[in-house]
Amino acid sequence: MIGIVVVSHSPSLANAVVELALEMVRGERPMIAIAAGTGDGMTGTDAVRVADAITKVQGPDGVLVFTDLGSAVLSAEMSLEFLEKSTTPVKLTSAPFVEGIIAAVVLAAAGASLDEVETEARSALLSKQSQLGDDVGDDVGRKVGGEASTAGRTAGSTAGITEGITEASVTLINAVGLHARPVAMLINAVRPLQARVMIANRRTGKPAVPVAGPTALLALDGRNGDVLELAASGPQADAAIAAIRTLVESGFGEMDAAPSDAAKYDSVAPAAQPHRPGPIGVSPGRASGPVVQMPAPVAMPEAGATIATDARQAESARVTDAAASVESSLLAMAERTSGTAREVLETTAMMAVDPGLIDGARDRITSDGVSAPEAVWAAAGAIAEELASNNGLIAERAADVRDVRDRVIAALTGAAPPGVPDRSEPFVLVARDLAPADTALLDPSKILAIVTAEGGPTSHTAILARALGIPAIVSAPAALDISDGTIIFIDGSTGELVLDPGPELVASVGDSADEVPVFSGKGQTADGLAIDLLANVGSPASVTEAVKAQAQGVGLFRTEFCFLDRTSAPTIDEQVAAYRPVFAAFPDRKVIVRTLDAGADKPLPFVTAAHEDNPALGIRGFRTSWRRPEVLADQLAAIAIASAAERANVGVMAPMISTREEAAEFRGLCASKGIDVVGVMIETPSAAITAAEIFAEVSFASLGTNDLAQYTMAADRLDGELAELNDTWQPAVLRMISAACLAATAAGKPIGVCGEAAADPVLAVVLVGLGATSLSMSPRAIARVAAALVLVTAQQCRAAAALAIAAPDAAAARLAVTHVLATR
Ligand code: PEP
Ligand code: MG
Repeated sequence: MIGIVVVSHSPSLANAVVELALEMVRGERPMIAIAAGTGDGMTGTDAVRVADAITKVQGPDGVLVFTDLGSAVLSAEMSLEFLEKSTTPVKLTSAPFVEGIIAAVVLAAAGASLDEVETEARSALLSKQSQLGDDVGDDVGRKVGGEASTAGRTAGSTAGITEGITEASVTLINAVGLHARPVAMLINAVRPLQARVMIANRRTGKPAVPVAGPTALLALDGRNGDVLELAASGPQADAAIAAIRTLVESGFGEMDAAPSDAAKYDSVAPAAQPHRPGPIGVSPGRASGPVVQMPAPVAMPEAGATIATDARQAESARVTDAAASVESSLLAMAERTSGTAREVLETTAMMAVDPGLIDGARDRITSDGVSAPEAVWAAAGAIAEELASNNGLIAERAADVRDVRDRVIAALTGAAPPGVPDRSEPFVLVARDLAPADTALLDPSKILAIVTAEGGPTSHTAILARALGIPAIVSAPAALDISDGTIIFIDGSTGELVLDPGPELVASVGDSADEVPVFSGKGQTADGLAIDLLANVGSPASVTEAVKAQAQGVGLFRTEFCFLDRTSAPTIDEQVAAYRPVFAAFPDRKVIVRTLDAGADKPLPFVTAAHEDNPALGIRGFRTSWRRPEVLADQLAAIAIASAAERANVGVMAPMISTREEAAEFRGLCASKGIDVVGVMIETPSAAITAAEIFAEVSFASLGTNDLAQYTMAADRLDGELAELNDTWQPAVLRMISAACLAATAAGKPIGVCGEAAADPVLAVVLVGLGATSLSMSPRAIARVAAALVLVTAQQCRAAAALAIAAPDAAAARLAVTHVLATR
């Protein structure tokens, strides 16, 4: 962005103009410095102060200096001599002081170059001149040049298509008409396009003005109901007209706002927002049922008084009884399951009454007089430590011993056993948050809905709930106070949570499930642009779902989900066994395997450190291979073997790539195992803005919008309080996506989206408009996304993308695109 310096004889005048200009922009603004007065309270100007002001705002894009009159110009000229040699271009402009500064601030905020801003600022009087009847027709023509001057002459008529010029008329439907914010949106939408657009207001009959500077557009005096005549020329004339039409017809995203709210958009300070936006609906569907709170994890028992010698026998017997009751409840659970789950429960039951554990605890009570819970904690700790010192499967049993320990202690203290509660009747699970391992074990036939106090829309609780089709709400801390057994109603789309719902609400449960459209198996827009609709999978159950949903392949195979309960690295054979069924389910279809994305929200003890100060910014994803190269090497070997044994078209991609070097290194590692379809996830801002370099190394990329939003907005994706920031609709995130898509188009390589954003049917239209070539999502979302895409043309997708990018914030972007799609 260029910097702006305002040189004036009067500080009050300069401040007032700058204040007025800043009212025209929301979001990022250019740096502005004022050099006004002589510094001793006198009216006048001073060259040294001007030089200081220039130094304050100078940057690589240059500085534009405005002056009011007389000696201000002289001081500005002299100031250039005081400036240290610098490469920053500095331009003094003869533009009008008020109109010029306003035009410059708006255009600079939209990212225009120094020359563009200066040209527009100098023309800023044109609208006033034309309004007051000065003869400015030639000036307008000169300003837009060639074809555009023709456009200027034809725009006032409804003559249809003139050769090389696209014409259209649109009606302003928003209450306040063309006020400052819509004007800025129009300029932002047209600026990136190779097109010149003229616009006239049929009601006033005044000459057309270019969609370039705010003052001319404001002077159109566009009011609700006015018809605007548009004429555009240049290679992207059609896109420009479509973008403007989209903006105008969506009411500039103001249709749900009262007129006074629309005016508020112009205010410099954004309205105060509540910080915690919850409860947030993250997995659609309605449910009603009794609450069961997830028990708090068992803590280390506090050391109590020494047990009297004559009471130690009875205290020891408590251990035996507690262990026996844990055994029988685990066996009862095993009875109700089958297959591997049953075997696991039976083995755990056996461990509960293991003499090593029981005798170890009893001995401690007898000899040291510690309480039963303390004794069990210590005895189990010793066994777990010994097991953990081994490798492989033996070490993994340490986690089982700790689980048994917690169950026995819960039985001793009367607390609820740890983990997802086991109930014979379905219930609504309420928890502070769910660990990935807990969510992986959820039984959708038992869990009616999930409500968590923490977590955001892209937390793993949310992702898993969507994949399992369980309605879910996150960021609802008050839910922790609801007593077990209370009947609640939740709506996972709206975030509504009602205690003791009436019969009407309860009867509405299941309503939303009825309208699921049917997917034909081929994703495309109305005009036939093919967009592969793929599935995100992480477990055998999700593969079955993906096949059922007619997914065109797998766009994200989250391999770490196969190994969440492991404490040691899986062998190559174990991995081959886990990958083959996924490949086998999609013969001759694309399956993109992501190498282990361990760390942060997906810790895997065999690759990630037990403690990092900042795990999301730490050794996660591809970075774990720096410490444990053999884990990645084995995984690639396993993928190569599994891929050779099946017919799927397998591609491999690395998570959390930040540099071109990492992409090149990953490609090399894949090549050494014979894997040649190699890509990366673009989920860091660095990867998005260096995508051109990264595409030189790999053959495809997939946008991980969950992490891309988290890192772009510096907002932890697990923190529900930050959900408003952690939103792919944020203009900053959309621009990151756009940068990566532009690089993909330039390289002629495919770029998919596999973050949760792809599952939002409205956002999916925007993503396709930005250039995404495939979308991968939870299988259950595919049909709805397909249904949304097939209703719009590729051009409409691009117009929706232009609309979203031009919006001032996430909410306005979502509203504007939703409105335009609904009224299409
Ligand atoms: C993402 O970050 O968008 C993504 C798809 O990966 P994950 O959610 O597994 O981090
Ligand atoms: Mg990610």
